[in-house]
Amino acid sequence: MFTPHSLGAAFINGTWESFPDLPRLSVDNPFNSSVLGAVPNCDSKITERAIEVSANAFRSWQATTVLERSTLLKRAASLLREHEAALASLLTLEQGKPISQAKGEIQYGASYFEWFAEETRRTYGDVIPSPSPGRRIMVLKEPIGVCAAITPWNFPHAMIARKAAAALAAGCTIIVKPASETPFSALAIAKVCELAGLPPGVINIVTGDPEPIAKALMASSTVRKLTFTGSTGVGKLLMRQSADTLKRLTLELGGNAPFIVFADADLDLAAKDFLHAKYRNAGQTCICANRVLLHSAIADQFIDKIASLSEQLKVGDGSLSGTDIGPLISSDAKEKVWGLLNDAISKGARIRSGKLENSSDLLMKPVIIDKVTKEMRLWEEEIFGPVAACAEFQSDEEAIKLANDSQHGLAAYLFTRDLSLAHRAAERLEYGMVGINSSSISLAEAPFGGVKQSGFGREGSRYGIEEYLSIKYVSINLN
Ligand code: NAP
Repeated sequence: MFTPHSLGAAFINGTWESFPDLPRLSVDNPFNSSVLGAVPNCDSKITERAIEVSANAFRSWQATTVLERSTLLKRAASLLREHEAALASLLTLEQGKPISQAKGEIQYGASYFEWFAEETRRTYGDVIPSPSPGRRIMVLKEPIGVCAAITPWNFPHAMIARKAAAALAAGCTIIVKPASETPFSALAIAKVCELAGLPPGVINIVTGDPEPIAKALMASSTVRKLTFTGSTGVGKLLMRQSADTLKRLTLELGGNAPFIVFADADLDLAAKDFLHAKYRNAGQTCICANRVLLHSAIADQFIDKIASLSEQLKVGDGSLSGTDIGPLISSDAKEKVWGLLNDAISKGARIRSGKLENSSDLLMKPVIIDKVTKEMRLWEEEIFGPVAACAEFQSDEEAIKLANDSQHGLAAYLFTRDLSLAHRAAERLEYGMVGINSSSISLAEAPFGGVKQSGFGREGSRYGIEEYLSIKYVSINLN
């Protein structure tokens, strides 16, 4: 049921449509380049039909009770958990991450369905005290309507789960355009929603080249909201394209996370945590540690610790248990990482661990460099690979200044035993999320999102559902 073969069709209005007359997009396993299957390359006409069915479905879906929606979303969550093994294998096949991380991602996705199944029951409005007699001021929360979601390949399950679960819980319907590298995990979510009994048209998946699909979605005034996760460049493009129809936007864009280790930090804790912050998903997460900022008093000691831990990591086939780092997603992605690494070396960065040896496949062993400066491209650009870029600071003040020296503002991490420093630094970091003594910050209960060029809007938490709700003010004259 959750195989590339059984999921090679778009999902529109509750029907699996393979569109035999259309060209198909091939999907490869990034570990060995074998072809896994293909999905239809849907065009603007198909997208327009998806919008129409989504609008029709919205009429009845918005009228369902919160209890009905909650029950269906909970059923979807338990199906995700029940089929964890099959869904995770599919995810690893098309995306490459280690199977243990893929299982974690399915559980993480299920937690959003569970969370929003509960949050739908708490979409309270207000009654506001009136300044004049005989008037009542009432505030209602209503679903926005038809939503479009465009999602990336790095978390092909979770990025859809945290959008779709919130939208559906709010009473919206949704059309998802998944990343072309990883459409099967998106289609698998649709399969789970179908099995859970969600009505036709409530969730639709349109696969294919992004431009025609996105243009049709952005041009439509029926689509009231875009929720996008991906690069800052594409986020800006979509923001421009959505201006004419003035859509509500949630933009979860690129990051450039500083990982700050102050002089008094527990270095063993920080080093262990660093592995998660840097190498999870082969370094291809928006909240990956991009710049490792180390107090000069502990820099060498810390680099030695992370070097010895990094050298033990197993790089290889994500499907095998015991693999820590799978392949990068594509040759373009690998070339970009090598480009950033070589640029840094040519400008004076020094290799502290790993080698400058490029293999012909998409695997890459960890490389740790130090003496990183602002002149290097990776100071501002997301590395998106297993390269740790270390720089030193002399004072706490300088650490904050270096950390904030970025156009992005998604996640930041800091390690210290000084409670006062931890609070003061967290308040001054220009980031949407700050992890103190831990980089495990992603939870359904917590608001995920950035500031500056990392975008706006929040996913998860009690704030996440608000992104899909409009406020209606009703004024009542009782006189
Ligand atoms: P991307 O190139 O921006 O692609 C993301 C999505 O946008 C894909 O579905 C892609 O479709 C689509 N797209 C590409 N060009 C488009 C266009 N011209 N018009 C409309 N849609 C277009 O990003 P990515 O490389 O997949 O993902 C990595 C980026 O996502 C990184 O910057 C990362 O930091 C960011 N990210 C952010 C968060 C967050 O929560 N802030 C989470 C995860 C990832 P195709 O795949 O078909 O090209």
